[in-house]
Amino acid sequence: MTQSILVLPGDGIGPEIVAEAVRVLEVVREQDGLDYSLNEALLGGSAIDATGVPLPDETLAQAKAADAILLGAVGGPKWDALDSSIRPEKGLLGIRSQLDLFGNLRPAILYPQLAEASTLKPEVVAGLDILIVRELTGGIYFGQPRGVRTLENGERQGYNTYVYSESEIKRIARVAFESARKRGKKVCSVDKANVLEVTVLWREVVEEVAKEYPDVELSHMYVDNAAMQLVRAPKQFDVIVTGNMFGDILSDAAAMLTGSIGMLPSASLDANGKGMYEPCHGSAPDIAGQGVANPLATILSAAMMLRYSLGHTAAADKIEQAVSRVLDQGLRTADIYSEGMCKVSTKEMGDAVVAALQA
Ligand code: NAD
Repeated sequence: MTQSILVLPGDGIGPEIVAEAVRVLEVVREQDGLDYSLNEALLGGSAIDATGVPLPDETLAQAKAADAILLGAVGGPKWDALDSSIRPEKGLLGIRSQLDLFGNLRPAILYPQLAEASTLKPEVVAGLDILIVRELTGGIYFGQPRGVRTLENGERQGYNTYVYSESEIKRIARVAFESARKRGKKVCSVDKANVLEVTVLWREVVEEVAKEYPDVELSHMYVDNAAMQLVRAPKQFDVIVTGNMFGDILSDAAAMLTGSIGMLPSASLDANGKGMYEPCHGSAPDIAGQGVANPLATILSAAMMLRYSLGHTAAADKIEQAVSRVLDQGLRTADIYSEGMCKVSTKEMGDAVVAALQA
């Protein structure tokens, strides 16, 4: 049966980088005789411009029906002044919660070819391979009540609610322990249990779940220390599991250890393995339309999609090897460029990956 992939290019550099990933998916489909369709829909700012809302009903219906989703990125200054209820990011958060994509896997792997692109010393980051498991549909980004109110004295006050239920913590902890079993068998749970009651519960529940995984070593770390340790000695970590907001921040820091946020894919999975795949970075409005964005995170997200949701492991391996070969050839987009390398555009990078696949 034909598998269906919903493609959501989004805003900013989204359409540029997704175009390259789609070409790669078309090439491996042809080469390996795979049977999947690629259909596009609107999400984020482009959807607001066309329909008035960031997540049109039609996009949501297509997302629910698809076997997997490939997303570029959403958002940009054009829509920043809109009311928060219809901002582009609402479309992304809406699709994650409507599809119950609660488990966000963000690998931070340093390609040996890019050790020089990291701002950290090569000996600190060489061989880095960590996985951040971020809870994606709960926590302070979704908690109610939320808003901005005016107090009796006329002063405005902003407020959000940080809330996690036991079941939400349990299921993300299981994703982390299961992932650790396939890797270095270590989970570090990151919280702020010295200050926030919600994360006191987080810590307790993670410890309960850990009893089901006696072969995996569990440790705990406060988020401020975790931020420090990530830049001091990142190789101490194998799998980090944390809530939505802490994971958002720590995964960007981990991304930078690898040299560029433009290299890192991510997966957001539901309980059945259906997922949405997207680069870790945003829509990069500062470079949108210039043809200089790095498409590799999106191409690697497409490879993750083939592996985790569509079951095409060999095709996924092939794409990852093609990316590695292109880096071996010295090709670099501006974000990962260093002296002596060959600077290429978004499209040239896509061309090179396609050529490596066809070689
Ligand atoms: P960003 O990730 O878009 O950009 C941060 C920096 O990294 C910028 O200098 C950008 O040029 C660079 N960068 C990002 N991706 C790159 C790539 N592929 N190649 C080369 N350089 C790259 O984060 P931001 O500037 O904080 O946010 C910009 C917009 O993106 C905002 O509207 C934000 O809400 C949105 N955003 C969307 C997502 C998403 O769709 N998942 C995630 C984060 C931010």
